[in-house]
Amino acid sequence: MTEVKIGLETHVQLDTETKLFCGCPNQDCEEPNQNVCETCLGHPGSKPRLNKAVLNQCVKAAEALNCDINDNVFFSRKTYFYPDMSKNYQITQYEVPVAENGRKKVNVSDREKAVEIKRLHIEEDPAKTQHKGGNISDSDYTKVDYNRAGTPLIEIVTEPDFESAEEARAYLQQMVQMLEYLDLYKPESNYSIKTDANISIEGGNRVEVKNITGTSEVEKALNYEISRQKQLKKRGREVEQETRTFNSDISATETLRQKETEEDYGYIFDPDLTRQELNTELQERIRESLPELPQEKLKRFKKEYNLEDKLVESLIKDSKMAEDFENLSESLNTGLVASWMTGEIRKVLNYNELTYSDSNLSREFIEELLTMIQKDEVSDRNAEKLLRHKASLDDQDTDIDKLEMDGEDLGPRVIAEENDLLKADKDEMDAFVEAAIEENPEPVQDYKSGDDEALNFIVGQVMQRSNGKADPKTAREKILKNID
Ligand code: ADP
Ligand code: ZN
Ligand code: MG
Repeated sequence: MTEVKIGLETHVQLDTETKLFCGCPNQDCEEPNQNVCETCLGHPGSKPRLNKAVLNQCVKAAEALNCDINDNVFFSRKTYFYPDMSKNYQITQYEVPVAENGRKKVNVSDREKAVEIKRLHIEEDPAKTQHKGGNISDSDYTKVDYNRAGTPLIEIVTEPDFESAEEARAYLQQMVQMLEYLDLYKPESNYSIKTDANISIEGGNRVEVKNITGTSEVEKALNYEISRQKQLKKRGREVEQETRTFNSDISATETLRQKETEEDYGYIFDPDLTRQELNTELQERIRESLPELPQEKLKRFKKEYNLEDKLVESLIKDSKMAEDFENLSESLNTGLVASWMTGEIRKVLNYNELTYSDSNLSREFIEELLTMIQKDEVSDRNAEKLLRHKASLDDQDTDIDKLEMDGEDLGPRVIAEENDLLKADKDEMDAFVEAAIEENPEPVQDYKSGDDEALNFIVGQVMQRSNGKADPKTAREKILKNID
């Protein structure tokens, strides 16, 4: 086996009101260069002022990753010349970052792996460049949009602990999930997570692949890079230390520049920004406010609920869903709640491109519906209809009458009653069965002369007449009773 070493540097854009060092709104906007001021444009004489909310968010992530927090941190200037950074330096942290020496446990298939977190720091996002008529190396010209300049980033750097692309992907997925639990990242937002992946094989030089978005892209880039480096070695050539980009159109990495060393950046202390004290009181307050994190929740759920691992993994994907599950399973059948939440409910949400928290499916609605299902008052088919109706934004794909009046939020029972979706009672069932038998003398005769398929046909007729209100098992029993 080839020895592979991978270290990741992950940049998380934070959703704060204002940018990191100025009062500009921290938001995308349609027009370029709208949310800008002297500071984020880097005008001479402008002064940065730290957005303290970012410090707290960074400490939160650091605490969740069991890092040592530095009590006195400051900012440094990382010098480089490029149009996306008009000051010709990026404000970041170098000598004393917010936190160091953390660890994150990662589940890789059925193993648990501990990954060392080297450091966690704050820095500003550069402007966005748009290359016109080509890519970064052959475009005719480049446009610069400073709306993004000054967006707060936290950077999370691991030690080179990953031994495969798969491990790196698992780490990233679980990191993203942790950040979601911490309210530092929402997948449906415009804020992004980008990763630089460092990779070396057999103690050779390390290659850095810059700016990869998405966990599966990281895995692809790494797999490509591992085989490229192996090929070089095979042909007796050295891997050069360099910076590459991942071209997702062709799933390959390409040379960007020979790797600069740390010294090239000429870090110096930034005298415009004051030192920041992260005292133990603040650290403790933030530590105590941390929610139960996804991996702890996963372990606890596996222990407390007698459910398949797959169901538990699916439940904890969304912390609000996990919370509602626990709540509902106190009064309802645990298996029923879990399978509906991770099955039909998630399907309906995906179809409408909604998250659990943002949808109309409140805990109250789900509770009432699951209670009806558990009491056998509604068929699975009609329960699904009710879910689709409630969650769908425009109602076009359900045949349920729109009953909601302005400001009124109706529960599933009322909607089911109004639309005749509750299960048939005994009298109704008898009527459906009698009618189906009367109208289908031939299949009845066929069944009597030994054709079992004919019975299924009659059951189907009952189901059709009842519009999902009948229960197939009861229908079958009643038909048999009536025929004999
Ligand atoms: P630099 O000083 O060049 O920025 P760092 O020590 O800060 O390098 O590490 C940057 C990233 O490179 C980290 O994620 C680290 O884990 C990774 N890294 C360091 N050495 C190696 C190596 N030999 N192979 C792969 N990745 C490495
Ligand atoms: Zn600004
Ligand atoms: Mg570094």
